[in-house]
Amino acid sequence: LAKANPARRIRFYEEATEDAVRERRRMTQELRDALARGQFRLVWQSQVSTQSGRIVGREALLRWEHPVRGPIPPADFIALAEESGLMPRLGEWVLIEACRQAAQWPGREHVSVNLSVMQLVPDLHRAVADALAEAGLPPDRLELEITEASVSRDPERTARLLEKLRAIGVSIAMDDYGRGSMSLTALRELPLDCLKLDHTLMQGLEDGPQALATIRALIALGKSLGLKVVAEGVETREQLELLRREGCDEAQGFLFGPPAEISRAAAG
Ligand code: C2E
Ligand code: MG
Ligand code: MG
Ligand code: MG
Repeated sequence: LAKANPARRIRFYEEATEDAVRERRRMTQELRDALARGQFRLVWQSQVSTQSGRIVGREALLRWEHPVRGPIPPADFIALAEESGLMPRLGEWVLIEACRQAAQWPGREHVSVNLSVMQLVPDLHRAVADALAEAGLPPDRLELEITEASVSRDPERTARLLEKLRAIGVSIAMDDYGRGSMSLTALRELPLDCLKLDHTLMQGLEDGPQALATIRALIALGKSLGLKVVAEGVETREQLELLRREGCDEAQGFLFGPPAEISRAAAG
C-alpha cells in the first residue's frame, strides 16, 4: 500500500504530526488550567520498616484529576509539564501541599517528595525552608527524592545544591537506583541519606538468580555508604522477608496497598 501511493503516506504523516502538535498544545493549556483550578491532588504510599513492620514514612505521588478523562498518572503529564515550563509551579504546589498534609498526621512519620530536574535551581533550599515553615513541619521529617537524570547533567552543581538542602535539615534520597547506569563513583560523591532501589529489581526476582545477586549487592553498597536503603515495588511477603534478611531498611509497594488518599493511608 505504501509503495503504491507514497505521496499519500507523506500527507498522512504530516497530518499525524500536526495532530500531535495540536494535542500537545491543548494538553499544555489544560495543565495550566488544572493548576489554576486545583485539579491536582496527592496520594500517599506507605514506607514500612522491614524490621518492625511499622509505617515509618509516606511518599507523595501526584495525580491529575481530569474533569473529563478522569485521573491521569504522572507518567502521562510530568514530561509535558517540564517541557512547557509549568513544572516549577507544579512542583512547588506538591512540596507545599505535602508538607501541609504531613504536618497534620497524628504520627511523626517522614514525608518523601519527588523533585523534578526543573526544580533543581540554586535557591531551591529557600522554597523548601518556606514550605516547611508555613506548614510547621520540622525539616528532619522531609525527604526529597531525586533521580539519576537530575544528577547526570552537572553532578558538581547538583551536589552543591543538595548540600544546601541538607544544611537546612532535610534528607536526600536517590530514587529509582539500579535502573540506569549511574557509576558508583558518581553515587559516592553525592551528599545522600537514602538509596531507593528501583521496582524493576523486585520484579526481576522471578526471572532467576541474577536479580537476587543485584539486590544483595545494592543493599550492601547502600549500607557501606552509610545510607538508608529502601526497596520499591515490593508486592509479596517473600520479597519483604528477603529484604529484611538482606538488611534493607524499608519497603514500599503494593503489598501494603495501593497509593491512597491520606485518610486511608493514615488508617493503614
Ligand atoms: P517513583 O517516585 O519511583 O514512585 C513510585 C511509583 O511506583 C509510583 O507510580 C507507584 O504507584 C508505583 N508503585 C508503587 N508500588 C508498586 C509496586 O508494588 N509495583 C509496581 N510495579 N509499582 C509500584 P506513580 O504514582 O505512577 O508515579 C510514577 C513516577 O512519577 C514516580 O516514580 C515519580 O518519578 C513521578 N512522580 C510522581 N509524583 C511526582 C511529583 O510530585 N513530582 C515529580 N517530579 N515526579 C513525580
Ligand atoms: Mg519517588
Ligand atoms: Mg522510584
Ligand atoms: Mg521515578
